[in-house]
Amino acid sequence: MLDYSMKFRTLDTNLLHAGRPQPHIEGAVVTPIFQSANYLMGEEATYDAVRYIRLSNSPNHHTLQARLAAAESAESSLLTASGMAAISTAILSHVRSGEHLLTQRTLYGGTQSFLDQDASRLGITHTSIDVADPEGARSWERALTPQTRLIFVEAISNPLMEVGDLEAVVAFARGHGLVSVIDNTFATPVNFRPFELGFDLVVHSATKYLNGHSDLVAGVVIGSADAVDRVRHLLLHLGGSLDPNTCFLLERGLKTLALRVDRQNDTAARLARFLEDQPSVRQVNYPGLASSPGHRYARRLFSGFGGMLSFYLLNAGLAERFLERVTLAIHAASLGGVESLVVRPARSSHLGLEQAERDQLGITDDLVRVSVGIEDAEELIADFERALTG
Ligand code: PLP
Repeated sequence: MLDYSMKFRTLDTNLLHAGRPQPHIEGAVVTPIFQSANYLMGEEATYDAVRYIRLSNSPNHHTLQARLAAAESAESSLLTASGMAAISTAILSHVRSGEHLLTQRTLYGGTQSFLDQDASRLGITHTSIDVADPEGARSWERALTPQTRLIFVEAISNPLMEVGDLEAVVAFARGHGLVSVIDNTFATPVNFRPFELGFDLVVHSATKYLNGHSDLVAGVVIGSADAVDRVRHLLLHLGGSLDPNTCFLLERGLKTLALRVDRQNDTAARLARFLEDQPSVRQVNYPGLASSPGHRYARRLFSGFGGMLSFYLLNAGLAERFLERVTLAIHAASLGGVESLVVRPARSSHLGLEQAERDQLGITDDLVRVSVGIEDAEELIADFERALTG
C-alpha cells in the first residue's frame, strides 16, 4: 500500500512534497498518471473505498488531495471537476431544501447565478450582506432566519476586490451555528489560509492560481475530515470528479504556486499604484492600496495582496479603447495564469447577471479587471501606459 501522509513545516516545501507517494512508484520522481478507471477488488468495506476514478481515489487524487490539504493547513481535501463543482457541491451538501444562506454582496458571477437561478429552484434561498461593514454583525443578524445554515464569502471578491471583516464572519458563523465557507481563489494559500482563521470549508477554482497555466479546469474543497466527507458523499452522486490526467497537470502547476504568486503580488502592487495616478482612471480596486476599503482587514490577515485588481475608467468608451490598444496583456476571460489578462467583467464573468443587478453592484461597462502575470513589471506597466494615453 502507498502512503500519502508525508507533510512538512512550510507551505513552499509542502507545495512540492506533501502527499508524495511513499515508496516512490517504480522509482518515479513525479506521480505518474494512473489512467485506469477501475482497479482490482480488495477487501473494501464501504462503497467509497472501491477504487474507481469517480470516487476520487486514484494515486493522482490521493497525492494531490493530501498536498492541497497541507497547503491550506487543513485535515482533508477533495478535488472536483471545476471550481463551480466545488462551490455548488459544498453548498448543496450542507444546505437542504427550505433552508437559507447568507452571502457576500458581490460574488463571482457563476456563484451568484447558481444561487439565484439553480439553488433557488431547489428551494434554497439566500440573502446578501455587506461583509465589509464594520457594523455589519447587526445587519447580518437581521438577515438571519431560523432556517439559515451557511455563510458564503470570497477572500477577495470578484471583480471588485472587496475584502470583508473575515474574523467577524468566522465569529458570527460560530455564534449562530452556521457553516462558514470561503472561496479563496483570488488570495491563494500563499497570501491567506482561511482554515487557520476558523473557516469550516475553503473552496478554490484550481483552474486559476493553483494551476497557474490557463490550460485546465479543476476545483477543490478543503476543510476538516468530517466536512469534506459530507461533500464527498454528494460528489460521488453528482459525479463532478476530476480525471487523473488533469490531476497530473494540476500537481505540476501547483509546484510553482509560491514563486508565481510572490511575483504577481509585487507586480500587481506596482501596477495599482501606477493606475491610481492616471487621469483617465476614476478608481482602482486593489486590497493593497490604502484607499481600498478592505485594506484594513487585508493588512491584518493577508501576507500579500494578490495578483488581481480592477479599475474604473472615466467612461465605457475609454475602457473599450484601452482593451483595443493593450498589446502585451491578453484580452481574455479567466485569471490566475502566468500571462497577464484584461477583461470587462460586465462582458464576461458577470454577463449572466441582469444589467440592473450589475449596475447596482458597480459592475459597469467602464470597469476593467486585470489578472497580473509574471511578465517583467516595467514592460507590463509601459504597455498599460501606451494603451491609456496613446
Ligand atoms: N470562484 C471564483 C472567484 C472565480 O473567479 C471562478 C471563475 O472565474 C470560479 C470560482 C469558478 O471556477 P471554474 O471556472 O473553475 O468553475
